[in-house]
Amino acid sequence: MKKTNQKKYDCAEIEKRVQAYLDNHLSDEEILMIEDHLSYCLPCDKKVEFEQKLKEIIKLKAAEKEYPKALEDELKKIIRNR
Ligand SMILES: [Zn+2]
Repeated sequence: MKKTNQKKYDCAEIEKRVQAYLDNHLSDEEILMIEDHLSYCLPCDKKVEFEQKLKEIIKLKAAEKEYPKALEDELKKIIRNR
């Protein structure tokens, strides 16, 4: 596939791939496509940021560790700004 012929991901494409993206299950090409979209689409950027924070919290909770209060506050801030 030629890079110049690639169609850009739309928001639905990002939505479908956000989990795989955060889990590093995507190809370099897909990652570039997503990061390109995130560079100009604020709602998707926020969504990815939110999912990422949520993942961190879940991971920390799963490890039965106290998660930093700052992280929780940050998450709440993101939710409020949606
Ligand atoms: Zn978008």
